[in-house]
Order: sequence, then structure tokens, then C-alpha cells
Amino acid sequence: MWMSHDVSTCHQGTAMQGPRPVVLSGPSGAGKSTLLKKLLKDYENIFGFSVSHTTRKPRPGEVNGKDYHFVTREEMQKEIDAGEFIEHAEFSGNMYGTSKGAVQAVQAQNQICVLDIDIQGVKNIKKTDLNPIYISVQPPSIDILEKRLRDRQTETEEGLLKRLTAARVDLELSKEPGLFDVVIINDDLEKAYSELKETLLEEIKKTQESRKS
Ligand code: ADP
Ligand code: 5GP
Repeated sequence: MWMSHDVSTCHQGTAMQGPRPVVLSGPSGAGKSTLLKKLLKDYENIFGFSVSHTTRKPRPGEVNGKDYHFVTREEMQKEIDAGEFIEHAEFSGNMYGTSKGAVQAVQAQNQICVLDIDIQGVKNIKKTDLNPIYISVQPPSIDILEKRLRDRQTETEEGLLKRLTAARVDLELSKEPGLFDVVIINDDLEKAYSELKETLLEEIKKTQESRKS
């Protein structure tokens, strides 16, 4: 049984030894990036972020190649057609996707690969052999989510309403039994972060141990 936890696959048909990846999903504004940034800061060498491609415009402070690979729809479609993506989805009027290269770059460092993807991505990753731990980060309520998204000041009114509609769908679909291994309600940030660390403790320990040998 231990094999299923220690073998992940790099999607070119070859099984790769290495830590199990982690999928963080949940509505936009639930706090995924905030939790992820803390995790990547506290465990710099243990976790590596899978840098997705997106056709949306960068927000102030976002860095191309670090937060996302910001691309045009034409560029992205070309790479999808060439078979370079593990999954891709349309979200709130833009395309998002995980390239094989993004995951491989992290796995090549023997780091735990973390994917921040929407619920369509979760369903599509389930069809692959990536075998990640699936975590849904959820807000305490839709009202609180709306307030957080408004306070973040990253969206137009139209964009915000699209995200709220997507959030309702996400929260509904997330109820499917077995879709997620763990659901974390991000009410108090420190509490949510502790729960995230607790969920990943076993993989963190394993990765730390593997570094010693
Ligand atoms: P996501 O990555 O899921 O879209 P973010 O991490 O950007 O969400 O969080 C959305 C907004 O909510 C950000 O402005 C963030 O600072 C804030 N936020 C995150 N977690 C909490 C929390 N527990 N309490 C209050 N505000 C939070
Ligand atoms: P944002 O525009 O707020 O950065 O992201 C919007 C949504 O797209 C979030 O739910 C985020 O998880 C999702 N997302 C980001 N990258 C990917 C990806 O590569 N694939 C999929 N399916 N969703 C993604």
C-alpha cells in the first residue's frame, strides 16, 4: 500500500519516485493564495508551486513566471493542442491550465508540488495518475467571501459577480462525497493554516526524512 503514497507520475507514462502532490481548490477569495504563500515561506524547500498558465491580465504585484505564466489565448490554445497540458479550464472568462512542464519542474526538485486549481481542474486531475491529496479551502459564508473579494480590490464589478456565481457552484459541487480528502473552512487564518499543516504533516516529514538520506 505504501507504493500508492510514494509514487507519483510525471505524465509521460513514466512513474516517478517522489512526494505526493497537493491540490488546493475552493472558491476564488477563499484564501488559497494566502495559505499557500505562508506554506511556501515556512517550508521553502519542501513545497514547490506549480505555476499555471492563464489568459487573464496580471494583477499589480503579480510576477510572470512566478505567480502565473501570463499568455494570450492563442498561445495557450497552441500549447494545449500540442498536448502540453495536464488539465485546463475556462474560469470567469479566462483560460487557466496546468502544463506538464509546471509539475515536472517541481517534481525534478524532489519537492511536494502544490497546484492551485478550480473545481473543473480537480475533476480533470482525477482522470490522470497524478494521485495528489485533494484539499478544498472554503469561506465561512458567501457573504464573507464577497466581502473578502471586494476588499481585495482585484476585480471589476462584473468579474466579482462572475466569481461569486462560480463560488456558489463550487461550494455545491464540493459536497460530492470523496471529491476532497479534506475541507478546510478558512474563518480564522491561523486556525486554517494549522489545519493545512496538520493535513500535510505526514508528507512534510517524509520529504524531510528523504533529504537526510
Ligand atoms: P484565493 O487565492 O482563494 O482567491 P486569497 O488568498 O487571495 O484567495 O484571499 C482573498 C482575500 O481574503 C485576500 O485579500 C486575503 O488577504 C483575505 N483573507 C484570506 N484569508 C482570510 C481570513 N482568514 N480572514 C480574513 N481575510 C482573509
Ligand atoms: P485567479 O484569477 O483568482 O488567480 O484564479 C481564478 C481561479 O482559477 C481559482 O479558482 C484558481 O484556483 C483557478 N486556477 C488557477 N490556475 C489554474 C489551473 O491551472 N487550472 C485550473 N483548472 N484552474 C486554475
